[in-house]
Amino acid sequence: MNENKKISVLEKDDEIFFACHADLPCFTQCCRDVNIYLTPYDVLRMRKSLNMGSTEFLSRYTRSFLAKVTHIPVVQLLMDPDTLYCVFVTPDGCKIYDDRPWACRMYPLDLNVKKPGSYKLITSSDKCFGLKEPQKWNVGNWLSSQGIEPYEEMEKLFQSVMPRGFQPGGKMDAGLGKLLFLAYDTDIFLEMLKDPKFRKLHEIDDDLYKAALENDEKLLKLAFSYIKAQLEELYPLT
Ligand code: SF4
Ligand code: SF4
Repeated sequence: MNENKKISVLEKDDEIFFACHADLPCFTQCCRDVNIYLTPYDVLRMRKSLNMGSTEFLSRYTRSFLAKVTHIPVVQLLMDPDTLYCVFVTPDGCKIYDDRPWACRMYPLDLNVKKPGSYKLITSSDKCFGLKEPQKWNVGNWLSSQGIEPYEEMEKLFQSVMPRGFQPGGKMDAGLGKLLFLAYDTDIFLEMLKDPKFRKLHEIDDDLYKAALENDEKLLKLAFSYIKAQLEELYPLT
């Protein structure tokens, strides 16, 4: 029988056996009672899929807060309080499948924080029966098939807004945590952008403004640039 190796570090060219489909008895069980933390790009894709703004999406479908010690924003997808299922799951699968969040795309893999650039299996074949299926992939091809690239690219940009000297897991002033939250709630940033004085002060020219109004990815990238510049200036003062 094909079997996934019980190794904790998977590189992109390592082999996995996996296929997920509706005939498996575990179908949609991984969409129940699960902690899914969203990235700013997840929020953008999901809210667009639902045709709503970021503020409405965040308040209806997430629990968001600044982490107690670090003050880094945390945005967690809410589960249905009665069934514990994700509110987007249907008997046929995810109703926002094309725009499902990064963590859902990666499952049953996740990033391996102990070895950046590598991955790990986060479940086993007694829960996720897809891991017993004969379809063979290498990890890189599997991730590409899940449309992971724009998520990785956007998250890399988001991580790069952190100021010099800030260490992962480090503490940040709560005010700066709120500033970081603008990356999730781009409706608020958009309101700020509408003020000509704000645009002048932050050297956002008309072309850039127009591009951000017309394209959500450009708006998010502009929010990242603004946050980065602000953090660079304010972090050393805190
Ligand atoms: S548990 Fe695994 S195989 Fe089953 S639905 Fe979820 S990802 Fe697919
Ligand atoms: S967003 Fe979709 S794939 Fe992710 S847990 Fe919810 S239903 Fe499942």
